[in-house]
Amino acid sequence: MPSIESKLTAARAITVADQSVAAEIPEGFARLRLSVASLCGTDLHYYSHFANGIFVLNNPVTLGHEACAYVVDPNGSSLKKGQLVALNPIMNCQACDACKRGEENLCTAKKFPGSATTVPHLDGFFRDIIDHPIRCCRPVSAQVDPKHLTFAEPMACALHSLNKGGVAEGQKVLVTGCGPMGLLAIACASARGADVTAIDLRPDAVDVARAVGAKSGLVVGTLNEADLEGQFDVVIEASGAIPAFNTALKAVRRKGCVSILSNIQMGGADVLLNLIMLKEINVVGSFQFNCEFEQAIQLIETQAIDFDALTATTFPLSQTNEALEFMASGKAFGKILLLADNDDQTLKT
Ligand SMILES: [Zn+2]
Ligand SMILES: [Zn+2]
Repeated sequence: MPSIESKLTAARAITVADQSVAAEIPEGFARLRLSVASLCGTDLHYYSHFANGIFVLNNPVTLGHEACAYVVDPNGSSLKKGQLVALNPIMNCQACDACKRGEENLCTAKKFPGSATTVPHLDGFFRDIIDHPIRCCRPVSAQVDPKHLTFAEPMACALHSLNKGGVAEGQKVLVTGCGPMGLLAIACASARGADVTAIDLRPDAVDVARAVGAKSGLVVGTLNEADLEGQFDVVIEASGAIPAFNTALKAVRRKGCVSILSNIQMGGADVLLNLIMLKEINVVGSFQFNCEFEQAIQLIETQAIDFDALTATTFPLSQTNEALEFMASGKAFGKILLLADNDDQTLKT
């Protein structure tokens, strides 16, 4: 079966070509065939600027770090040929202090695919054949829908932000920003039994937030923000916008927690720091995930999450460019998925 790969060669330029696959699989790696991948805000940053903030790409690279795939060659491991696996993109060193503490997200020597933070860059998952470390492949039962399993990575990020914020059953939680990450945080917090309110500038995004579990949805500009003041135990900031961060500081109760999930960009910011002091707000950052990857997969296996509501649309892998353009248009509400072109959900070799 032919295989293709997409490469970002410059800002807004992706080439799709036949993939040349190495004859040898590296030691400790399994050979996989892509089933479903999904687009992340990070991919969009690289696509739009050939950089993600201060991290500039040195050379063309295949984007993508959210995917699931079928095992083509287990390469001597206990994985089974044809098995569906979720790919954990964090390839940590397993030796540094952070790794020893189980905080592989903060590993000082980790490798991450489709990113300028790893030099030389590793190709990401927007390609048919992927060699991936065996220990980063999590097999799932045949009942799991690959279109759900690709959410494992972003859902792990969302769960990490909930864990950092201490979100628990019965709490009042506000999620600022209803992009894909905000929507995942809403779905996961609702699944955890929290009473979730969502807020965004875009009414359509707020509608999706309600569909995935928010009890109430608010549209910026149509409400009196004073009504939100001090109302929430935890706020998950998922918009990356400074005004939303200030809304979070106002909306959280005294001694509450604001957990930053968004890929907030560098730059000057007029932040209401005095509220952090006056209300003794706990502001925590949330970067990637650790044990939450496993938690995400278990949550996917329980089928407690409505992934169809979280999915904006799908494109074939051969149309990676079109998929990213659609994401750039801002017209997608929820995740955009990439499906392997010839995927009939059975093993391909
Ligand atoms: Zn991502
Ligand atoms: Zn490490």
